Amino acid sequence: MSLDTQTLEIREARDRILSEIGDRVQLVAASKRQPDDRIEAALKDGQIVFGENRVQEAQARWEPRKPHLPGLELRLIGPLQTNKAEDAVQLFDVIETLDRSKLLKALIKAIEKTGTPPPDLLIQVNTGEEPQKGGVLVAELPALLNEARETYPGRVTGLMCIPPAAEPAAPHFALLKRLADAHDLPVVSMGMSGDYALAARLGATHVRVGTALFGVRDS
Ligand SMILES: *Cc1c(COP(=O)(O)O)cnc(C)c1O
Repeated sequence: MSLDTQTLEIREARDRILSEIGDRVQLVAASKRQPDDRIEAALKDGQIVFGENRVQEAQARWEPRKPHLPGLELRLIGPLQTNKAEDAVQLFDVIETLDRSKLLKALIKAIEKTGTPPPDLLIQVNTGEEPQKGGVLVAELPALLNEARETYPGRVTGLMCIPPAAEPAAPHFALLKRLADAHDLPVVSMGMSGDYALAARLGATHVRVGTALFGVRDS
């Protein structure tokens, strides 16, 4: 069987990323708007953890594949509307973008209604306090975390952030790690194509990498 260039490029990129982050950090393959053949190439190389940004795109891609991929782990890394909560809890193993009480309530209701195994949740923290970005402000984190721990026990496992594009990421990563430690949360999702190695050094347990793994996305 011959391997085409793209398959080889993805394999090399994946090997390089894995060696840079070390074996205590999980590589989440951010597969949004990537063509199917690249996803297949990553699956063939043993990648089984994927991050998706949109519920519908993820359903179309993963619902047909899921029954054939027993180890598959799907993580929602994009913003979630409450009207998509039922679909989201049925598809995703982890929802990384919990950021408001209304969404927490919608997720709990969706889990009760669908009877699906409950996903783990990460709280997204808007460390840069950017108005257009999802995530709780640092000051609002304790209240949302307390509510989630009371109403959804044992399922809030960590924090996630997307630092402002125009700022050095290190202070944001350090802040997120500090917050996770302060609240006894073991999972820290941070770092993307440009800064995953830095994030890994600063305490990420999960890095979310798209273009550095797969190549440039479809627009
Ligand atoms: C797209 C995306 C990523 C991956 O971005 P790249 O720069 O392509 O690695 C990571 N996290 C989130 C939340 C994203 O939306």
